[in-house]
Formats: sequence, C-alpha cells, structure tokens
Amino acid sequence: MNAVTEADAALLRRAFSLALAAKQRGNHPFGAVIASSSGDILVEAENTVATSGSVTAHAELNAVSRASVACSPETLVRSTIYCSTEPCSICASAIRWAGIGRIVFGLSQSRFRNMDNKGQPKEPNDFTCREMFDRTAHAVEIVGPLLEDEAQAVHAAFWRT
Ligand SMILES: [Zn+2]
Repeated sequence: MNAVTEADAALLRRAFSLALAAKQRGNHPFGAVIASSSGDILVEAENTVATSGSVTAHAELNAVSRASVACSPETLVRSTIYCSTEPCSICASAIRWAGIGRIVFGLSQSRFRNMDNKGQPKEPNDFTCREMFDRTAHAVEIVGPLLEDEAQAVHAAFWRT
C-alpha cells in the first residue's frame, strides 16, 4: 500500500465538504472526488438521492458516471476516488466497472451502519468494499477508514436532527 499523503487527506476532506453541501441541499450527506495520479480533481459529486428522486444517485456513482464519460480508461486506472464514507456495494461495483485503481474512504460501513439513526433499528452491516473487490480480478488499492471522526461528524449532524 502506498503511503497516505497530505494530498490524500486534503482530497478526502474535500469529499467531506461535498457531503456537507449535499446535506444543505436536502440530500444524504455523502460526497466523492475523483483525482488524477498527480492529484488534480477530475470530477466531484454529491449524493442527489432526494433532489433527483433516484435511489441510486449516490455520490460515488454520480462521480463514476461522469468520470467514465469524461476520462479515458488509462486515466481512470491511475486515478483515486475519495469517498466520504466507504462505498456501498452499488458504488463499489461502479468503481470496479470504471477500472479506477485506488479508493480512499473516510467513515467505514460498519461504523456508519451502527450509528444512532433516529432511534430506528440498526441496519445489518453491508459487506465492505474490500470484500466486494476480493471477489473480483480487478486490482485496486483500498485505503481506509481515514479521518474517521471527521467523516462521522458529517453524518451525526444529519441523521440526528
Ligand atoms: Zn453507494
């Protein structure tokens, strides 16, 4: 695994900012950034489930959809997707189909699923994105959880209000 750099932390924090922006628009607090191997932002996206009405309008899926149209496969394989929360199974699959070579995420799925969600029963854990990629031949580097307390703070202000 390559070392986590200051540039990684900065781009992950950009994903947190996008998650906050999504929340301010009435969407679920998730954000994603796809950056080139030199750290230039290629695409950034927010969750748009509430405003679009589409249950699959997750931040990572929105980002991957745009990046796969805008960028070459050679660019995508060298790119990193920064996700405010560990990608769900839908988004992990999209990342795999786009051929993105590296994932950096903030909050883990297990910690996210175990958060207090308005007193509702906790959801069973989804499988982790590492488990999904373990079942594919796609070579991907996965870094996370990272800056997890900051990543969780974005959610806490949403789900508990
Ligand atoms: Zn997702």
